[in-house]
Amino acid sequence: MDFAVSEKMQVVLELINEFVDKELIPLEPQYLSRPWEELEPVLEDKRRMVKQMELWAPLHPKEWGGMGLDLVEYGLVCEALARTFTGVYVFGCQAPDAGNIEILMKYGTPEQKEKFMRPLVEGKIRSCFSMTEVDQPGSNPVMLDTTAVLQDGQWVINGHKWYTSSADGAEFAIVMAVTDPEAPPHLRASMIIAPTKTPGFNRVRNISVMGHSGSGWPSHAEILYQNCRVPGENLLGPRGHGFIIAQERLGPGRIHHCMRWIGICNRCLELMCQRALTRPVSPNQKLADMQIIQTWIAECAAEIRAAKLLILNCAWTIQKYGVKEARQDISLIKFYAAGVMQKVVDRALQVHGGLGMTDDTPIASFYRHERASRIYDGVDEVHKISVAKRIIKEAAAKVAS
Ligand SMILES: Cc1cc2nc3c(=O)[nH]c(=O)nc-3n(C[C@H](O)[C@H](O)[C@H](O)COP(=O)(O)OP(=O)(O)OC[C@H]3O[C@@H](n4cnc5c(N)ncnc54)[C@H](O)[C@@H]3O)c2cc1C
Repeated sequence: MDFAVSEKMQVVLELINEFVDKELIPLEPQYLSRPWEELEPVLEDKRRMVKQMELWAPLHPKEWGGMGLDLVEYGLVCEALARTFTGVYVFGCQAPDAGNIEILMKYGTPEQKEKFMRPLVEGKIRSCFSMTEVDQPGSNPVMLDTTAVLQDGQWVINGHKWYTSSADGAEFAIVMAVTDPEAPPHLRASMIIAPTKTPGFNRVRNISVMGHSGSGWPSHAEILYQNCRVPGENLLGPRGHGFIIAQERLGPGRIHHCMRWIGICNRCLELMCQRALTRPVSPNQKLADMQIIQTWIAECAAEIRAAKLLILNCAWTIQKYGVKEARQDISLIKFYAAGVMQKVVDRALQVHGGLGMTDDTPIASFYRHERASRIYDGVDEVHKISVAKRIIKEAAAKVAS
């Protein structure tokens, strides 16, 4: 494994870091205090600048207007962009659109690509991914109540979802619904593209998450599908392959999230050090002179580095051997990186004292919203159980031989 950063990527990362520092970090107070709709036009201007710099859509292929980076390279970009809230959005690689584009790219028909994927890659529209249900455990996704029945060439969707992130203002949802109830559990559900303007697609509310309902891209919606009729050709990929496609979406998607968390850790460590260097604890001493703070800084640095190497190793494995071979590594990074981030953000907040609890720094928002990292894309416990089972199985095989 060689994680040396190529000259090309060094230039890209320098440009991105400079852009984040100069153009996006100054927007944080606005992001934290104003509705999304007010910030959106400002972000549109920033997006135009990014396109002019040819840094738009780093993940997506060049023939679709992206940069065509590989997974390791893209991971490094996520790290750089996530130092601030709007980085991934302004560079056209925000969740859930990035994941939706990936599956449309792989499974979409030529018509679906033109109609839904092209405007999404170009940043003209947004989308959402609608799988988790109010009344069923998201951690066991084969237990879905939402159904889609083919009637007169149309899918009729009924179900009650929530945590459909970014549904507010999205043009379409990719919905996971049971189409084949008699099939084996992992072949029962399909993915279907549902334009959000379709009658029967009812956004009930943006859920209040940690005290914030949000709006637009940074929001999470509850959706009632009530006889929502979409054309039969909106089936995405083979019928009954919803879970297979979801696994493919989640594998590389975890690299994106985990490297984003490393970016958040880097920012928090930066802020922690700046605060420690300037905040007096006595007339002659600053926080940075306290050994306990020094210990936290050293521990954070080690844990961030360890998590980053684990993630890059996983990205490399996916690239070389595919998602299936990397399954254990994907689970490892998901719970490990989320845990590291939680610890680093918490320490940064503690070092800032009362200031850390305010929205005068980005730390409190990271603290509130990134707690979810231990829940979405697979809860900690399920990932740990899956890793442990594999290790125990291998140990048992050794004992038996
Ligand atoms: C901020 C945020 C954004 C999200 N965005 C989306 C989105 O865009 N689209 C979407 O479809 N979903 C999204 N989700 C939903 C997310 O995927 C689910 O919340 C997640 O899968 C967990 O499902 P659940 O909430 O139903 O928890 P449950 O399945 O009810 O689990 C609750 C708890 O039980 C424990 N647990 C569960 N299973 C086991 C087990 N086998 N062994 C031991 N303990 C266990 C865990 O501690 C777990 O946290 C989002 C969630 C959040 C918080």
